[in-house]
Amino acid sequence: MRFLLRVLGVFLAIYAALTVLRSLLAAISPARPIRPASAGHLVKDPVCGTYVPEGSALKAEKQFFCSEECRQKFIKS
Ligand SMILES: [Zn+2]
Repeated sequence: MRFLLRVLGVFLAIYAALTVLRSLLAAISPARPIRPASAGHLVKDPVCGTYVPEGSALKAEKQFFCSEECRQKFIKS
């Protein structure tokens, strides 16, 4: 039982240390948006449902498409 309590204590100490470390890191580096720069922003192709990086997507009528084929399908529909 003593052994278990000691192990538990060690785990709690490690957990507390990690929590403190994490909050310290958060304080040093201000919260950054999880998403990368706008170049990596994903847009949804309304035709096939594929997510495409905005930079490489084809655009028509305020919609983004993964390929010319999808764009044509959308325009025709
Ligand atoms: Zn598509």
